[in-house]
Amino acid sequence: MQALLEIVPAWQFIAFAAVFGAMWGSFANVVIVRWPLEMSVVRPASHCISCKTPIRFYDNIPVLSYLLLRGKCRHCKASFSPRYMVVELALALLAVGVMRLTILNDPPSFQQGAAEFFIWFSFVWALVTLGMIDLETYLIPDAITYPGIVVGIAANAFILELGWMEPLIAAAGGFVVIRLLFIDGYKFLTGKPGMGEGDAKLMAMFGAFFGIKGAMFALFAGAFQGLIAGIVMVAVRRRGGGDSEPVFAEDDGDPDEDGEHETTQETRFRKAKIPFGPFLALGAIEYFFMGNAILDAYLDGIARLIGF
Ligand SMILES: [Zn+2]
Repeated sequence: MQALLEIVPAWQFIAFAAVFGAMWGSFANVVIVRWPLEMSVVRPASHCISCKTPIRFYDNIPVLSYLLLRGKCRHCKASFSPRYMVVELALALLAVGVMRLTILNDPPSFQQGAAEFFIWFSFVWALVTLGMIDLETYLIPDAITYPGIVVGIAANAFILELGWMEPLIAAAGGFVVIRLLFIDGYKFLTGKPGMGEGDAKLMAMFGAFFGIKGAMFALFAGAFQGLIAGIVMVAVRRRGGGDSEPVFAEDDGDPDEDGEHETTQETRFRKAKIPFGPFLALGAIEYFFMGNAILDAYLDGIARLIGF
């Protein structure tokens, strides 16, 4: 089977990955729109939200249709969110990236490379989909994380390198760490949980796929980037003044929010409600593509700092 990689040129695998990724991006869009509404992801067929006209297959080609129709419905000219194209494009690029690290990365056999491609692409697909859902709803679907945990442990047991024990321990550990530190512990200290139950299940999924090192990397990278995003949002809101409603603000119906005294930066920061899932997902994608390079550079930097 190794011969297949010698006969088929690399660009054909890249082209396959791009098309495959864009098509799954299209399906991700369906899930992102319909899951929060508790709708079936299969029926009804895609239609324009404004005029309800079903979208024909030739107007439903990932990325291309959006560009050709300039993001508008062919019939009523209502605009579709550019998010549709962004998700399709992102998954096309991610699929190409996964292809390069699996089938095109000199696997022991073509089957092994292909199995790794489908495993890691499904992981990346799940992260993009649940990240977008969390961004809009502050919820992470169990329907994605539960199967993700099972697939991750099974994939490591039978196909990937970690075996079954470390992923199992890392999945349980990831859940417990988030539960104790970021949900219960944070709530004990501040009165409010710092992360949600869905984040704990997401960390379990990272443990199942990555083992301990990768799950820790994704947690730290995600929390760090989430913190930076939070600081930027606070700064933007301060500049924007008190009367403009912040995008992510929690609507607690508190009437004296813009009242007599200026709120401190700290309370403003805690009031900015930021979903952690998208940042955890980002951290996991970063680990998959460049985790080892970043860790090497980091350890190298420390070694130099202490004079080795
Ligand atoms: Zn329409």
